[in-house]
Formats: sequence, C-alpha cells, structure tokens
Amino acid sequence: MIDCEMASPLTPGSGPPRRIALFGGTFDPVHDGHLFIASEARRLCDLDEVIFIPCWQSPHKQGQQAAASHHRVEMVRLAVEGLAWASVSDFEAVRAESSYSWQTAEHFAGALPGAQLFWLLGVDQWDVIDTWGRPDILAELLTFIVFGRNGRHPRSNPAFSSVFLPGNFDISATEIRHAIGENAIPEGLDARVADYVLHHQLYSLKED
Ligand code: ATP
Repeated sequence: MIDCEMASPLTPGSGPPRRIALFGGTFDPVHDGHLFIASEARRLCDLDEVIFIPCWQSPHKQGQQAAASHHRVEMVRLAVEGLAWASVSDFEAVRAESSYSWQTAEHFAGALPGAQLFWLLGVDQWDVIDTWGRPDILAELLTFIVFGRNGRHPRSNPAFSSVFLPGNFDISATEIRHAIGENAIPEGLDARVADYVLHHQLYSLKED
C-alpha cells in the first residue's frame, strides 16, 4: 500500500477534501508517458482529478522553441477527452509569460478552496526542484508525486512532502519530435494527437 496521505484537515460539515494533482509541463506534444503517470497517480493516490497545465514557455527550457501554446493545450484536450478524471487548464498557456510552479500552485489553491493539492512530475524535474522558485510556497501548498524515468529513481528531499510511485514508461517528447522530424511514424502518441500534429504540420511532418 502506497502512502499518499498528508491529508488536509476536514472542514466541519464538508466531505473529505478533494484530492487534485496539478500536472505542469511543456507537453510538446503530450504523449503516452504523460498519460501513464497521470493515470497511475490517480489510481495509486486515489486522486479525484488530474489537471494538465501546459506552460506558455517553460522557465526550465529557455531557448528551446516549443509549438505554440494553443496547439499544446489543444493536443492535451484531445488526449484526455473521455477521461472523466482528467482536465486541461490554459492558466499558464494564456499568460504569455513564463509561469512559475509556485504561481500556478497559488492560483489553484485559491480557485479550489479546501482541496488537497499534489504536483505530478518525473524524476528529471524532481532532481532539479531545488532550483524552482519560492520553495516555501511549494512546500506549504503541495505534496509531490514523483515517477522514475529511464532507470533513474527519485531520492528523498527533506524540503518537500513527496511520494514516489512505481512504474516506468520510457518515452519523451524529444524522441517523438525527432521521429516526426524524420518523417517516421512516432510511437507513444494518442491517435487524435497524431492526427492533430499531421494536420497542423507541427514538428515538420508534412501531409502528403
Ligand atoms: P521533452 O523531451 O521535450 O523534455 P518530456 O517528455 O520530458 O519533454 P514534459 O512535457 O517536459 O515532457 O514533461 C512534463 C512532466 O512530465 C515533467 O515533470 C516530466 O518529468 C514528466 N514526464 C514526461 N514524460 C515522462 C515519462 N515518460 N515518465 C515519467 N515522467 C515523465
């Protein structure tokens, strides 16, 4: 049994707090690895909802040109269509400036009063979390749900509440963009997302 607890206190007269994971990323494009960790986190941590939050431009990936944020939001919308527990927020994507996770966490804490908030991420981001802004706010508002990746396992960081979940799905958006750029059929994409990529000629794949 995995301990995803850290429960918030109950407000008298209310039900148990809703358990909601915020899932920030570039999603350039959203792929099966993202969907795998979201659905496993939901199952193992008994989450009510996972909110995918495509960034406008990642503060951690300055200098890399991602597909326009409205395309990335739309691809996530297509990928989670039909998943009752998943949704997409354009909170970061429409700000047209880099958002920091602490700002996003503060926004959702205000918008979802009483909810217990988690932040979902892979070990590559967890390993650099000490470089994220306002760790005091992150630690106050969030429990981090972390997945390993490419044989790398997360290590505990005493500054934050965290839970490390088992399971691997080794795929990355970088690999997918490269495959598309070379006109290979990319693996690990939802069919609706693959159609969208083709239709909008993202990542240089040209429709015949
Ligand atoms: P890129 O290859 O462009 O860096 P990515 O595949 O890492 O992209 P992001 O959108 O940057 O995708 O990732 C968003 C979040 O999802 C990050 O916390 C990342 O660690 C996590 N993540 C993405 N893919 C996986 C995966 N296959 N396994 C575990 N975590 C993942």
